[in-house]
Amino acid sequence: MGIEKFIRPDLTGFGGYSPSTAPETLQGKIEVQVEKIIKLDANENPYGCSPRVSQALAAYPRFNIYPDDGQTGLRKLLAGYAGVDARHIVAGGGSNQLIDLILRLFLNQGDEVINCVPTFGIYSFSTGLCGGTLVGLPRDENFAVDVRAVKAAISKKTKMIFLANPNNPTGNLTPPEDILEMVDTGVPVFVDEAYYEFSGQTVAPLVGQYENLMVLRSLSKWAGLAGLRVGYGLFPPRIADYLLRIKIPYNVNVAALVAVEESLKDIDYLLGTVKKIVAERERLFRELEKIEWLKPFPSQANFILCSVLKGEGRELWQKLQNKGILVRYFDQPQLQNFIRISVGKPEHTDALIRVLKEIGG
Ligand SMILES: *Cc1c(COP(=O)(O)O)cnc(C)c1O
Repeated sequence: MGIEKFIRPDLTGFGGYSPSTAPETLQGKIEVQVEKIIKLDANENPYGCSPRVSQALAAYPRFNIYPDDGQTGLRKLLAGYAGVDARHIVAGGGSNQLIDLILRLFLNQGDEVINCVPTFGIYSFSTGLCGGTLVGLPRDENFAVDVRAVKAAISKKTKMIFLANPNNPTGNLTPPEDILEMVDTGVPVFVDEAYYEFSGQTVAPLVGQYENLMVLRSLSKWAGLAGLRVGYGLFPPRIADYLLRIKIPYNVNVAALVAVEESLKDIDYLLGTVKKIVAERERLFRELEKIEWLKPFPSQANFILCSVLKGEGRELWQKLQNKGILVRYFDQPQLQNFIRISVGKPEHTDALIRVLKEIGG
């Protein structure tokens, strides 16, 4: 107890988030050169961003000036893309920032957040950081959400239901009728559609009709902007107004703003790469199915979850890393001995499958 006595007691034991590995930190620790690493661990876009983005950023003359704090132009652009009115939009420095922001707006110490596990780790991370209590409800053996259990878990303290759709890391979708059943409870429902462009399913057109339905979107995956940190949410206008008031000033940086503008001028190109990734996802799935000691789960996103049926998932993850192929390894209650593989380019699939066959079970 030194400085600790000044720190929030609920945070002194806080575990934090386990992020993906930055390739440069593996320098000298693995068999291959860092430049040769095939990064399939964070669902990033292997085709990069639109070439227009790099050109516009290189030529941009005003990095010395703060962006518009009210996000006026950005909200209009994103609204046009999402097909809603700009009053619904709030942008963030990565969509993760909006998960944090919405919880700051709703949660008091001890309030409950319903989470359908296994799912994206940021929901529990941000709930913990805001002093909330996470109510984790297990999905079934195919990772479908148990809507009845969700409704039964609602208490006076419930402030939010999180639903990643498609879900990360499992890749499956929750049908719209199940989502609406949760929305009909009146509890705020936060539908995370970070992979919408890969799945094609959205509840965005319904946001205007409910007081308690929110949709999260990201440019990290389909537009290849993960490194620039920009995402947005579709909110009922009253919630959007509150969020704009409590957000950190100038939360979306100028480079990200320029990148969104250019990306939205190059949608055909970007959706072309999404199409390639979706086609490659199906090929990767078929290839993984042929490996008898792996069980891949069908995915509507840009990654595939696999159960490792023989041997240690951790060892497999380590061996792949040694060969310069990064994947995500899970060892949690409902994901014991699982790996998640992001969909790369065809040559990445080929390299992965080759190494998997070499390793054997
Ligand atoms: C990748 C991902 C995001 C995107 O986060 P950003 O902060 O926008 O990069 C959001 N939700 C889920 C479920 C994800 O997998």
